[in-house]
Amino acid sequence: MLKKPIYFDHAATTPLAKEALEKMMPYFTDMAGNPNSQHIFGREAMSAVDNARDTIASIINCKPNELYFTSGGTESDNWAFRGAAHALKNKGRHLIISPIEHAAMISTAKALEKEGFEISFMKVDGEGFVDLGHLKSIVRKDTVFVGCMLANNEVGTIEPIKEIAEIAHANGAICFTDAVQAAGVLDIDVKALGVDMMSMSSHKIYGPKGVGALYIRNGLNIESIITGGHQERMKRGGTTNVPGVVGFAEAFRIAAAEREENAKYVASLRDRFIERVLAEVPFVKLNGPADGDRRLPANADFSFRFIEGESILFSLDLAGIAVSSGSACSSGSLEPSHVLLALGVPEGLAHGSIRFSFGKHNTFEEVDYAVGVIKEAVERLRNMSPLFKAESEVKNV
Ligand SMILES: *Cc1c(COP(=O)(O)O)cnc(C)c1O
Repeated sequence: MLKKPIYFDHAATTPLAKEALEKMMPYFTDMAGNPNSQHIFGREAMSAVDNARDTIASIINCKPNELYFTSGGTESDNWAFRGAAHALKNKGRHLIISPIEHAAMISTAKALEKEGFEISFMKVDGEGFVDLGHLKSIVRKDTVFVGCMLANNEVGTIEPIKEIAEIAHANGAICFTDAVQAAGVLDIDVKALGVDMMSMSSHKIYGPKGVGALYIRNGLNIESIITGGHQERMKRGGTTNVPGVVGFAEAFRIAAAEREENAKYVASLRDRFIERVLAEVPFVKLNGPADGDRRLPANADFSFRFIEGESILFSLDLAGIAVSSGSACSSGSLEPSHVLLALGVPEGLAHGSIRFSFGKHNTFEEVDYAVGVIKEAVERLRNMSPLFKAESEVKNV
């Protein structure tokens, strides 16, 4: 039996690293100054924020003054997309994103459309990869913004951002990437990627929740969306979340130092899991890339035919296994995931999808236990499904 529940939902959030928590603690109490205050407490806080900025800037290979702290990935995505659209609207009002972006981008696209901007979506193939030829065919003279995530949060597809940025730049547009899922896993050197803006979030890389960052290349002026005081070089108002920023930087430092080792270990958990599920569970489809090197090491996403994703999720939860149906953001709604639909997964299968996302604290024992639970749950749920009975009788003839 299980001693404690198993967490396979690291793409939704990760537990805070103990080292990061320790670094944060003094900034809640003894060193709780406002970084903008003109006294010793303020200077202490500002120096902590400066150090955090230096740490993250050196990991992503930018200048510290190109990095802006925000409240998280959602705000960074909103700021990059809306801020660029507004700042560049006299140059053009055509914006391009992928159809598999996070809700933070998709919802912003809808809002910008209402403001009179025109949004086009680049095509993705059955594994979620952007079709570069299609992108080339839809960029226009009035295209000012091309945005695509570095890695997808639901099916783990790692996108060819460098090539996407080249196409954007060749056509006079800027390129933005959402690196929230890629940070701590892939090398996210902004110069090597060639992007003009990049989003990051702390709580997906073992840092605290409610803090993130946006890289904005020097020379690129985008509009502010949070107007206020002089913080973040007058670009983003609001008193800096000092403990949050300190914890974010420490988590990022650890993630960068352990990046290759962790990615290798987590990928080995994923590969064992995928191999066993495909071999031992009938009527199952792996969503996203088949090639493990082009898929996030932590991600496995399956569609189980004849069953609703929610039913499997509840069965796994009862057995102490925490997973996500679709993405955590769209679950709770009855709509199938926009990501799976964009990949061409039929609606029936899209409804039966479950995302497993592994982390550095997971073990092979947990993976094997989960496979056993899935086999049992899937068989039981299918035996209750009239659709499955009808289909399997046909198959048996
Ligand atoms: C989680 C996530 C976000 C949102 O980040 P928050 O810090 O939770 O607001 C944005 N994009 C992707 C790809 C994500 O996985």
